[in-house]
Amino acid sequence: MSQRAIAVFPGEKRVRLIEHAAPRIERPTDVRIRVLEVGVCGTDREICAFDYGTPPAGSDHLVIGHESVGQVVEVGSGVESLRPGDVVVPTVRRPCRHATCHACGSGRQDFCFTGDFSERGINGLHGFMTEFVVEDAANLNAVPAALREVAVLVEPLTIAEKALSQVWHLQERLPWGCAVTPGRGPGRCHRAVVIGAGPVGMLGAMKLAASGFDTTVYSREPAPNPRQQLVEAIGARYVSSAETPVEMLAAIAGPIDLVYEAVGASSIAFELMKVLGTNGVFVFTGVPGRREPMPVDTDLLMRNLVLKNQLVLGTVNAGKESFENAIVDLADFQQRWPQALSGLISGRHPMEDHAELLLGRPSGIKNVIRIGAAA
Ligand code: BGC
Repeated sequence: MSQRAIAVFPGEKRVRLIEHAAPRIERPTDVRIRVLEVGVCGTDREICAFDYGTPPAGSDHLVIGHESVGQVVEVGSGVESLRPGDVVVPTVRRPCRHATCHACGSGRQDFCFTGDFSERGINGLHGFMTEFVVEDAANLNAVPAALREVAVLVEPLTIAEKALSQVWHLQERLPWGCAVTPGRGPGRCHRAVVIGAGPVGMLGAMKLAASGFDTTVYSREPAPNPRQQLVEAIGARYVSSAETPVEMLAAIAGPIDLVYEAVGASSIAFELMKVLGTNGVFVFTGVPGRREPMPVDTDLLMRNLVLKNQLVLGTVNAGKESFENAIVDLADFQQRWPQALSGLISGRHPMEDHAELLLGRPSGIKNVIRIGAAA
């Protein structure tokens, strides 16, 4: 049996719809999944521009797609946690095989020391932009059926989950907790700025706002615009970088306790680092393309880092716990802001539209490729 898939051929520099062999259950812990939807993200577009991504060993192509939601159709004899019909979101990264890598040995391949990890749809393993996939049950996260229409947002939300859980650990270095009143999260005495109003930024803003932070989203497009409306719908503030320079932003947003960078543009990020507040944490999640080096006021940044006890944190990928937390939080967001949450998914497209989505200039926030229909 063969099935359709969207694949990139780095040798030929082509991206196309292919037919390839449908996978079968081979081990007792395997689960066969019908892929329902796959999100298109900046990483996919980079892979399709041949800047990133590696096909599996011995293959001339890579099936892309890592932000996915699927439905279980068959389970191996050893699988007890899942059954046909369950909705699942797979994790992306698989461990390296070095005995010395304590991170991978402990199931925390998102902190792999060796760099020899693999990632489905990105590095060394085929991804999810295809009709059926087989995955080990240990890498699957069950999602309540009520979240099926937004579950494709779980993976991009895990970025914020991993970041925030680290921030709370790190800030145990000082008295940072806030007195929590019912209905208001542990961040309610802090101010956060999110750079970028793409899916990672918007989901990060939702996580921060739901945690009680006074949240400002700083993005290029002048207001009014649809992203600004979504930001305001979640009770956050929208500030356009085209209209408001960072110094003014600091005056509007107040002393900044946390910056969540979600735009992948280093120039604006380092500008903002200059106005990070005392005891603040600056979180980088974006992966910029390499451009010409640019001047940065290193003395100012270093003075601030030391004299203001600041932290700079980079974070990539996410462990299973972050997926579980993302599923819980997505249900919370759906209750609080149903329209804003579903508004993040700006378009659902058939596989045939892949060229425009991956190589063109699609509009909207999160575009999704719809592959299968749930049973
Ligand atoms: C994915 C991560 C992955 C990273 C680097 C991101 O788009 O969300 O899971 O680790 O790319 O490959």
